[in-house]
Amino acid sequence: MRTFDRLVVVGASLAGLRAAQALRDEGHTGGLTVIGAEPHLPYNRPPLSKSVLTGDDDVALPGDGELDAEWLLGRSAVGLDTARGSVTLDNGTKVAYDGLVIATGARPRRLAEADMSLAGVHLLRTIDDAVSLRKALAEGPRRVAVIGGGIIGGEVGSTLRAMGIEVTLIDAAPFPMAGPLGDTVGAWLADRHSHHGVDLISGARAAALEGDGRVRAVRLSDGRSVPADLVVAGLGVLPNTEWLDGSGLRVDGGVLTDAALFVQGGTDDGAANVVAAGDVARWPHAVFDDEYVRVEHWANANEQGAAAARNLLRGPREAVPFAEVHSLGTRVHGARVQWAGLPRLADDAVVVAGSPEEEKFAIGFGRGGTLVGAVAVNWPKELIRMRRAIAARQPLSAAAA
Ligand SMILES: Cc1cc2nc3c(=O)[nH]c(=O)nc-3n(C[C@H](O)[C@H](O)[C@H](O)COP(=O)(O)OP(=O)(O)OC[C@H]3O[C@@H](n4cnc5c(N)ncnc54)[C@H](O)[C@@H]3O)c2cc1C
Repeated sequence: MRTFDRLVVVGASLAGLRAAQALRDEGHTGGLTVIGAEPHLPYNRPPLSKSVLTGDDDVALPGDGELDAEWLLGRSAVGLDTARGSVTLDNGTKVAYDGLVIATGARPRRLAEADMSLAGVHLLRTIDDAVSLRKALAEGPRRVAVIGGGIIGGEVGSTLRAMGIEVTLIDAAPFPMAGPLGDTVGAWLADRHSHHGVDLISGARAAALEGDGRVRAVRLSDGRSVPADLVVAGLGVLPNTEWLDGSGLRVDGGVLTDAALFVQGGTDDGAANVVAAGDVARWPHAVFDDEYVRVEHWANANEQGAAAARNLLRGPREAVPFAEVHSLGTRVHGARVQWAGLPRLADDAVVVAGSPEEEKFAIGFGRGGTLVGAVAVNWPKELIRMRRAIAARQPLSAAAA
């Protein structure tokens, strides 16, 4: 293990916390500073689109104990000098390091600023966003439009319907989540939304919002106007990399790293002391033929933060490539939808167990005949089995239960 005088983690959320914890667990006894743009200690984001909206404020991260670290919260990093080993903060302070973890995550895509400025328009990424949305929901909106049928949009739509609120879900894809999960799951999700009273508008883009001070409607690209006095935009996320401009690090749809999560670019010495993890990192994944991937999900940030930290201590020569097959799940109107790997890479998909009609099924996704992804609906055991099969690079033809 290498020893360091001062390790710095930029990003005080899941990946950053797991990195900091792993640094201490692995025996780092020197300085440890965690820098976070939000004023809060790390918390758990998945409840923000579920229980927090209905009044449960428990966002504690599992394993979130005491950590011997200096916290610089409510402060953003705005620059990085890998040759000098220094992070510049938004108040001009420079924080010196000899080892660095980049864990600045991602932020939601915004609507046009004119639309964002209307009252009643919400994004959902932080606890402050969730509390603001909850307050707005308590005012009794007549109809909420959710723009985007991905995880956030689907969960918000489900949560609001369970609260008895009228919801229109607007999604550009032919079926919700058809892009990441394929048409079979997408069509099943569309049915489920409709069955639970969501007014689903698929294959339509939100072109602009209408309103005068307060939002009144969403105008679609085909000219239709959808009434709404509250809008939640769930349009996906962008990695937070702007603070690295000018640092020499390679950024392309995320911070590019090698297979062991050491950053690319910068000075050779500098890059050997900098790793990245979580929603911000894009690395060549051995299970997917070294294709560069960026994964925006909880389990990945949870495991990758710790893995990056361990590799930082080991150094590039002893480092272990990160090749976990991530899995995640969402609940849509009570149904459990879980997936593993990267179904979006597939050129073939087969239902390997159950059927959509039974509301319990699993789909294997293959590329060139090799399993690269799986989806299981209401069938956690199948997901575990398929995830193992993906990691073992089994053929799609062998995936049937
Ligand atoms: C509402 C919601 C529901 C979700 N539900 C699920 C789910 O059901 N399942 C699932 O797998 N995933 C879910 N996710 C995604 C999951 O929460 C993320 O993958 C995870 O939070 C990523 O962790 P991270 O630490 O990499 O990044 P983030 O959680 O994005 O944290 C990055 C932190 O860095 C800070 N930061 C950014 N730039 C700077 C800077 N320049 N200087 C200092 N600090 C900075 C940010 O403020 C932020 O606090 C959900 C996310 C949201 C928002």
